[in-house]
Amino acid sequence: ILRISGLHKRFGDHHVLQGIDFDVQPGDRVAILGSSGSGKSTFLRCLNFMETPSAGRIELKGRPIGRPDARGGDAVRYTQAELAQVRRQVGMVFQQFNLFPHMTVLGNVMEGPITVRGMAAARARDIALRELDKVGLAHKADAYPGHLSGGQQQRVAIARALAMEPDVLLFDEPTSSLDPELVGEVLNVIRDLAEEGRTMLLVTHELGFAYHYANKVLFLADGLIYEAGTPDEVLKHPRKERTQRFLERFT
Ligand code: ATP
Ligand code: MG
Repeated sequence: ILRISGLHKRFGDHHVLQGIDFDVQPGDRVAILGSSGSGKSTFLRCLNFMETPSAGRIELKGRPIGRPDARGGDAVRYTQAELAQVRRQVGMVFQQFNLFPHMTVLGNVMEGPITVRGMAAARARDIALRELDKVGLAHKADAYPGHLSGGQQQRVAIARALAMEPDVLLFDEPTSSLDPELVGEVLNVIRDLAEEGRTMLLVTHELGFAYHYANKVLFLADGLIYEAGTPDEVLKHPRKERTQRFLERFT
């Protein structure tokens, strides 16, 4: 569903991603691990073009997004229409929820379908309520984000991503800013999505969750996919010393 080849990202002379090659199949649940600063967020952000890749090729459902810039420089070029399409097809959930504080929960979830998908308000409302119900928060539709717990806010953020009916979901440390007692409710929602067969990439330090619900695990280091495999291979029997050292920190 996603084919990533030769993906590079530079910030000035800081070469963060140095050639990532990876294919995501429909229904894959990919857990992404790596030390702070290893480029996990940058990798996800390149996949929905919140960051412009410096080089490389990303295909979504067999169609390349953008094309190399003939003049070089920050090298992948794309049209606004392509960008809107990618944003619709690739949903993202952030560590810091990023809800609009001045809009109700329902308003937050309806916003994307209306502005990005051009949907009529009544239909967007139906979809928003359906997705809020899925994350167990239909009863909070008229509340404002500031009146919800962190776990509830993150579930709203997931509903907002789902309302776009994306083909791929990206989660960037969705539980890292939550109090420990709120982590479970968010992981349960992600688990349900995994069990539905949704395609997702998840940056997380919840290794137990990754072990049980991912089917592929990537360990990023030095701007590359340093080690990749099944959860059992990477998390229980890592072959490379750096992966082993990283995992030891969690035991
Ligand atoms: P963390 O676990 O702390 O979230 P990460 O693996 O997600 O880390 P990134 O946020 O992708 O790491 O950052 C990778 C490197 O790129 C870091 O050194 C960071 O400072 C740098 N970086 C990220 N975004 C930018 C930016 N917009 N401008 C300049 N440098 C950036
Ligand atoms: Mg990050």
